[in-house]
Amino acid sequence: MQRLVQHPDFEKMTQREYDPDPNVLDGFMRGEFAERNQILRDHPHALRSVLYWDDFEACMALSSHASGKQKLGALYLTLDNFDPRYRGNLDTISLVALVRSSYVKEHGINAVLKRPVEDLKKLGDGVMMNGKNVFGTLIAVEGDNLASHECGGYKCGFTAHKPCRTCNCTLEEIRSGVEVKESMLRTSRQYDEQITEIENARTQKIAEEKSKEYGLVQRSELNKLSFHVQNGLPPAKFSNNAKFVAYLRKIGIDI
Ligand SMILES: [Zn+2]
Repeated sequence: MQRLVQHPDFEKMTQREYDPDPNVLDGFMRGEFAERNQILRDHPHALRSVLYWDDFEACMALSSHASGKQKLGALYLTLDNFDPRYRGNLDTISLVALVRSSYVKEHGINAVLKRPVEDLKKLGDGVMMNGKNVFGTLIAVEGDNLASHECGGYKCGFTAHKPCRTCNCTLEEIRSGVEVKESMLRTSRQYDEQITEIENARTQKIAEEKSKEYGLVQRSELNKLSFHVQNGLPPAKFSNNAKFVAYLRKIGIDI
């Protein structure tokens, strides 16, 4: 991050123009979560970190025998401060951690997130970079559904009673199709209460039953920051999803 900030083009790349109409939501800083973030309120120019987590196969897995053996999990970092034009540029993306998937399986994702969370925590209190006290906060962790559920402590099999990280719909409701109302959305308070219930369950069996009921497994390490996974795991981009594009076309929206 220090090297990103010291980059000669950093100033230029982080200057962006917003829509003159302040009601147009054309960036994180225009939204409710930015308003509620204490670090951004105190330091409007703070670094807005975005993490990205995904698995990949490090060698050609042509046979089922080899598949999974060389699987690695990678955690990347970019800054929302960069103008959207530069965000796809490799220079603006840094590798934070590279971990064997078998390690994640054995020790859990929180073991991987522990160190980056400690570093981001320091940034919340300010870190001297280039003679300046630089502040920063985490605003989102991106990934596909599996990666997002893993990072957030949600159940990964998508067969829990409530399998969706965004709403409280049951598996049956999702399968049969249901219109989601705002009252059905999960909240950070509900997440904390349900996780506490799981942690305090009298027996392992009760903990497992509650876990399946709520679709939650464990408290995410990320919540140790001024960040809550319930508000910070945005859905994966739909524009790449052929099925979604086909659906939009079907209902008359051409993209
Ligand atoms: Zn949902």
